[in-house]
Amino acid sequence: MNTLKYLLWVGAAVVTLFPSCKEKELDKTASVFETSSEHKTPFDSWLEVNYVQTYNMDYKYRMEDIEADYSKNLSPADVLQSMRLAKIIKHAWLEAYVETAGIDFMRRHAPAILHIIGSASWNNDGTMTLGQAEGGLKITLCMVNWLDAKDIQKMNSYFFRTMHHEFTHILQQDVDYPQEYNLISANDYRPNAWFNWKTTQDYASLGFISSYAGSMPVEDITEVTCCFVTFTDEEWDSVFLAAGEEGRKKLNQKVAIMKQYMLEVWKIDMDKLRNVVRRRMDEVVRMELLEPQWYTTPVKMKAVSDAALQQLSRQLREQWKDAAEYMDRCPNCCHVHNASLINILQHDNN
Ligand SMILES: [Zn+2]
Repeated sequence: MNTLKYLLWVGAAVVTLFPSCKEKELDKTASVFETSSEHKTPFDSWLEVNYVQTYNMDYKYRMEDIEADYSKNLSPADVLQSMRLAKIIKHAWLEAYVETAGIDFMRRHAPAILHIIGSASWNNDGTMTLGQAEGGLKITLCMVNWLDAKDIQKMNSYFFRTMHHEFTHILQQDVDYPQEYNLISANDYRPNAWFNWKTTQDYASLGFISSYAGSMPVEDITEVTCCFVTFTDEEWDSVFLAAGEEGRKKLNQKVAIMKQYMLEVWKIDMDKLRNVVRRRMDEVVRMELLEPQWYTTPVKMKAVSDAALQQLSRQLREQWKDAAEYMDRCPNCCHVHNASLINILQHDNN
């Protein structure tokens, strides 16, 4: 089991480093996941049917350190939040693409692993990574403990914008987008300073749909794609209004290339996808997200969650002394990296 995971992990790294390498054709008829050594809860059985058997996708909600970024302080996802998110992603993300592009498209392109992290993932520059895609194999989603299943706008901002963003990367890694896109804002990308654009006008006037779109061309077209699907009309229009004539012209060129690429290469009509996603997000708010049978073994599930939290809590408490000394030494510095520790201590108090 561990060997297989390690190979998957190494495989992801190799594909990321050498995207042009030819990959061996996957055997889509059999699942690569061996989960028989773990105690299976009713929720695991539901995942087996709805994720593994349907999409050959492993929904990893028990934090496994081999899958996580060692350089970050991360905490596991709450079990109930993981259950709710699994239902939401199935309805509003997987099935939205199935409805728009067909089940075969989704089976072929859905990531093999969806890795769920409870806490945020902070970077040294004070920004926060909401998720990442690795070589078309895996999508990691952070901040699952913040999930509010009644708030569509927050769910879009924290999860679905990230999901559509990372999925767009997976598609681009398969068939790249037209490179003429890169020329539209060629002189304005700022890989290390995009987060300094604070107001909408700062980035929109340069033809960027978000500040992060200004980091590099591939992130630009990816942001245009995911914002097109997840922004409300008001959010979308406000960027175009703030852009002014020159920025608007660039934005319109980018949207046109993105739509053409998605339609010609992937047979996805982006207007249709947006309507389907909006309808399904409205449905999510009214859905029963937790199945009654998922509660039949709450003690076992809690034990798994508690064990993971205790282990991480021990590690973080060891780091707390250094963190506290650092905060004393530098009261005006940014201390966001302690957010995970706070997250753990809050769990302890609940
Ligand atoms: Zn990206």
